[in-house]
Amino acid sequence: MSSSILDRLGAGTVLGAEGYVFELERRGYIKAGPFVPEVVLDYPDALRELHREFLRAGADVMVALTYYAHREKLRDVGREGDLEAMNRQAVQIAREVAREGGALVAGNVCNTWAYDPDDPATRETVRAMYAEQLGWAAEGGVDFVISETNDYLGEALIALEVIRDLGLPALVTLAPTQPGQTRDGFGYVEACRILAAEGADVVGLNCDRGPETMLPLVAGIREAVDCGVAVQPVPYRTTAAAPTMETLRPADGDRAFPVALDPFTCTRFEMAQFALQARDLGVDYVGICCGAGPHHVRAMAEALGHDVPASKYSPSMDLHPMFRADVAAKDAAFLHSWTAQA
Ligand SMILES: [Zn+2]
Repeated sequence: MSSSILDRLGAGTVLGAEGYVFELERRGYIKAGPFVPEVVLDYPDALRELHREFLRAGADVMVALTYYAHREKLRDVGREGDLEAMNRQAVQIAREVAREGGALVAGNVCNTWAYDPDDPATRETVRAMYAEQLGWAAEGGVDFVISETNDYLGEALIALEVIRDLGLPALVTLAPTQPGQTRDGFGYVEACRILAAEGADVVGLNCDRGPETMLPLVAGIREAVDCGVAVQPVPYRTTAAAPTMETLRPADGDRAFPVALDPFTCTRFEMAQFALQARDLGVDYVGICCGAGPHHVRAMAEALGHDVPASKYSPSMDLHPMFRADVAAKDAAFLHSWTAQA
């Protein structure tokens, strides 16, 4: 297996798997609200296990869990002193598991909440945050860097500069929380075109939108750039009326984001269909973001034609007592009651 993301993109669709923060929150290792990945230092085995589950499900990339492991966020939870150890350990764990299955390792930075397009001084604050995080990632031996959930093109460009200064390939994606443009007023297609012109190896969108409302935006990006295109939606059934997971509302009217989104979750079959639709649009890097489970990733991998380690346990309904062709006569009555409507 090649150790270069560019070689792998040239060889076929690369499958990404993210959503570590949401999944580890569900498992009780990360606090919803701050969403700081304290699990990296506090329960490293829990993180190792989730990496391994995504790897077995067919993910081609282990993304170091340094999302929100930046100075601003660690200060919020009183752990600024753990910044370096948390970043270094996240990269080390991702590398360790990646080696078990020939996956690539990605360093990871995200929106900082420190950037203000109207305050030039914040540019240097953001640059320093990225430089320290990615400096540790580079020393840890990442193969490339993912800069993601960018609300501002301006902030994404700072990340891109830092990544390029380190000599690493860059995958830069925007968070499509608004109907058509970044918070600093660039259409998503135009913003991706600028990122590509500035040297990003892969551009695109991740998080916030589910497949149905994400794919139409990606088609325009694919047409506009010659570099790689990535799309990593959330596995939630967003709609024209509620195009992002933040706008989804349950019947009682309360906000579902971020910890009551379960009723909107896509099935593995919907995510498999998305993977094929994205590939057919010419997307090179197909993935999944917040809300992802290993079953989604495996279904996407198999849809893309990959037989992965977890495929050993993929569904075989022909062996189910009720769904098999030769249901025992004594059991046939069960099927009737399973099928009958109340
Ligand atoms: Zn996400």
